[in-house]
Amino acid sequence: MHVIHFAAECYPVAKVGGLADVLGALPKYQQKAGIKASVIMPFYNKPFVQTHDFEPVYEGAIQQGDKLYPYTILREQADTLGFELLLVKIPQLLDRREVYSYADESEQFLAYQHAALDWLCTAKYRPDIIHCHDHHAGLIPFYIEYAGQFSFLKGVPTVATVHNGQYQGWMHWRMASLMPAFDTWSWGLLDWDGLINPLAALIKCCWAYTTVSTGYLTELYTKANGLESLFAAERAKSYGIVNGIDTEVWNQATDPMLPVNFNLTTVNKGKQGNKQAICKTYHLNDQLPLGVFIGRFALEKGADLLPNTLRYMLNKYAGQVNFFVLGSGDETIEQSLQAVLVDFPQHLGLYIGYNEELAHQIYAAADYLFMPSRVEPCGLNQLYAMRYGTVPVVHATGGLKDTVKDLNTAGGYGFLFDEATEEGAIAGLERVLLHWQEADTKTWGQLRKFLMKLDFSWEKSTEKYTELYKQKLINI
Ligand code: ADP
Repeated sequence: MHVIHFAAECYPVAKVGGLADVLGALPKYQQKAGIKASVIMPFYNKPFVQTHDFEPVYEGAIQQGDKLYPYTILREQADTLGFELLLVKIPQLLDRREVYSYADESEQFLAYQHAALDWLCTAKYRPDIIHCHDHHAGLIPFYIEYAGQFSFLKGVPTVATVHNGQYQGWMHWRMASLMPAFDTWSWGLLDWDGLINPLAALIKCCWAYTTVSTGYLTELYTKANGLESLFAAERAKSYGIVNGIDTEVWNQATDPMLPVNFNLTTVNKGKQGNKQAICKTYHLNDQLPLGVFIGRFALEKGADLLPNTLRYMLNKYAGQVNFFVLGSGDETIEQSLQAVLVDFPQHLGLYIGYNEELAHQIYAAADYLFMPSRVEPCGLNQLYAMRYGTVPVVHATGGLKDTVKDLNTAGGYGFLFDEATEEGAIAGLERVLLHWQEADTKTWGQLRKFLMKLDFSWEKSTEKYTELYKQKLINI
C-alpha cells in the first residue's frame, strides 16, 4: 500500500506547530509498519533544504489565472526522514522562508495543490490513499472529483485529518478564477457562508475524516468556528485517532539537545541537572518549583491568561515559585509578559520567539507544564512533557482531557482544571504547587517515573490509520 500525505508542514523540514510533528512522525512509523508513505509539501527556503540533496523528479507548469507558473517536484535523495519527501517548488511563490502569513497565502496553497496533482496525473503516479492534512490541502478531494484534468486520480480514496479546525483557509469567490477548471455545477461543495472554504470542501468531499483525538471529534460538533453543523452532518465518516509522539526524537536518554540525559533510574538527578542549566542562564533559583508554558501566544492556547495568572502566582507565592515562558504571537501578550518580567526578574524566565532546542531543554528542566488552552485538538506539549517526567497542569478540553488523567482519580497523574479563565488556571497552579510542597522527593519522583512510562508512541495510532485505510476504504 502506498499513501501520499499532503501537508504544509513537516518536521524537521518546516515546523510552526504540531502539524509538523505529526507529518515528521506518522509517515516514518507507517514505513516501519510496512506501508510506503510519502509526504508532498511546498518548498520553503529553510535550513533543511540547504543542507540536504534533492533531485528534480518532474518539471511542469500550471496556469493560475493569467499567470503561468513553472514548477519542479524535488525529491530528497537520501530519504533522511525515513520516508519519501517531495517538495513543490515554484519560483517566487513557493520558495520563501516562512510557512505562513504572506498576503498571497491563498495563491500559494492553491498553486501547491494544483501543481502536486498536475504532477501525479501527468506522471501517471497513482497512490492507494491520498491523505490530506488541514485546509492547506483541503481542495485535493474536490479537485480529484470535479476538475477534469485530474480524473486520472478518480477512485483513489481520500482521507482528511483535521489538526486544527479554527483555521479554514477562507477565500473570496473571485479566487475561483485561479483554480484549475472544475465542474461549475459543483460550486456548492466549495462554499460555506458565501466564501470558498477549503476546510469545509475537504470535509464534504473526502471519503473519511479523522481528528487528532476522540475528544476533539465530538467537540467539533459544537465548537468548530462555524463548521459545527458540517462536522455533525458528516459524522458517519469520522474517526478520532489520537496523535502519538516520535519517541526517537523525544527520548530523554538520547536527546542531543539536553544538557543532561536521563532515564527512569536517574530521573531526579537528570531533571535537576537540566533545571540547573536553564536557571543558571536565566538567573533563577533552581531549588524552586519550575512551571513552564511553551506555545503560540494565541487565544486558543489561552496565552492571554498568562500575564495576570503568573503575576498573581508570583505575588501570592513570592519567593516560592519560578516560571518559564517560551513562545511568540500576539504582541499585546508579548508586551504584558515583558512587563511581568520587569517586576519579577528573579522568578520568571521569558524567551519570545521560536526555539526548538530550548523547547526540548525546558520540557526536561520543568517540574510541571501549564496548558490553559481553550481549544486543543490533541496537544503535543503535554505528551512531550510527560515523556520528560514533567507533570501536566491542563485545561480539561479536547485532546488534553483524553491524554491527562487527574491525580484525584484512580490511576491519575496530572492536574485538570475546568475553566480556561484566570480563576480556573490559578486553581490548577495552586493544586500542583500544594502537591509539590507536600510531596517528598520520593513521591514526586514516583510521579515522574509513572509519566515517563506512559505509552503515547506512534505505533498504536499508526495501526488505527492502517485499519481505517484497509478496512474502511480499500478493503484489502
Ligand atoms: P499547535 O500545533 O496548535 O501549535 P501542539 O501542542 O500540537 O500545538 O504542538 C506544538 C508544537 O510546537 C510542539 O512541538 C511544541 O514544542 C512546539 N512549539 C510551540 N511553540 C514553540 C516555540 N516558541 N519554540 C519551540 N517550539 C515550540
